[in-house]
Amino acid sequence: MDALHAKYPFFEGARDAVAGASASLPALVADDAPAVERARERVERALREGTVEPAAGAFGRDAVDHDARAELLSYPIARILVSLLDAAPAIDKYAAAEAATARERIEADLASDDALASTATPTVDLQTVLAEFDLETAVVAEPARRGREPTDYWVDVGAYLRLADPAWGDAWRLVNRPLADGAVRVDREELLRALETAIERRVRDGLPFELSDDGVIRSELAARVDELRRLLRERSYAAPVDVVVPALFPPCMQNLIEKAERDVHLSATESFALMAFLVGIGMSPDEVVAFCAATSLDAEGIRYQTAYLADDRGTQYPPPTCETLAKLGICHNEDDHMRVAPDPLGYYEAAVEAADDDLTDWRDAAGVTESAEDAVPDGGHIE
Ligand code: SF4
Repeated sequence: MDALHAKYPFFEGARDAVAGASASLPALVADDAPAVERARERVERALREGTVEPAAGAFGRDAVDHDARAELLSYPIARILVSLLDAAPAIDKYAAAEAATARERIEADLASDDALASTATPTVDLQTVLAEFDLETAVVAEPARRGREPTDYWVDVGAYLRLADPAWGDAWRLVNRPLADGAVRVDREELLRALETAIERRVRDGLPFELSDDGVIRSELAARVDELRRLLRERSYAAPVDVVVPALFPPCMQNLIEKAERDVHLSATESFALMAFLVGIGMSPDEVVAFCAATSLDAEGIRYQTAYLADDRGTQYPPPTCETLAKLGICHNEDDHMRVAPDPLGYYEAAVEAADDDLTDWRDAAGVTESAEDAVPDGGHIE
């Protein structure tokens, strides 16, 4: 079993690995094999937290190395669960979460040095990822200074147009990009974003599908599907508190904002937690862009992320729970916060409720209404 396929189960080679794992999916489901519970966790975390990374606990974050078989087989079973859910928001969130997790893993792999690469954990290089999507000749690195990693790449126009989404904003329009010899220049961050989109499309491809078995899998998975369906319903209709008072934000969110204000790069998980919180309290993408104007978060990245968090079906993600944020090192449980609420949104709602009625909404104070371009406040916002 190639642990790399467990780490990137949407790779073409992973299909052969699943076929070669001498495992029949109906038998795995009937036996309630570890892959089945991991598949449920995969979908649950996609719906709740925008990631499919194993939580510490039952599987542990190093599950990819320790139980590569369960990790690999959990992917096709997770696709079955999502198909049985048969709801567009579930498919959107699942595909986006698989892609976001893969991007984090690819970034970590690319950043790993030779010493790390020699450990048991397999890593991919950029050429391997590009080849997976038939982009190995369409993407060429700009020569870097000696001893340095390239920071810019030239992408064939055809591939660029296939990968870039016009909804990402004007900066992605062809007329606004450096263009030479039929290729478009992108930086490394942009290339990774485009690859994340390619991964998301591949994961989404074919979902939902009809099960070809005689109903055995459907009935064996019924309880888990009901549980996930309940979760999807709960998470889809939470009404936002809809008042923005940064001074009442929980410390985890204030810490992330302060870190970004110091121009420190937020990891994908940190940025997701912050965006989900800001959207969850009722801020529009434009308001989030304005709020983060003086931070390391770029406007286009914010718009891209918030598109998933607050769509017009009202299917926003909640921010991760306090328990998850503690495991990720984002929460330090200041003043024993976890006694107050199970997640940062709940904590903030309680703080707003406990405050007096004269709260000043940051949006009113900053003059931010509908469009961030019209009303970007002057920098800082935490008061
Ligand atoms: S306990 Fe929850 S709300 Fe409080 S700092 Fe931690 S994650 Fe944030």
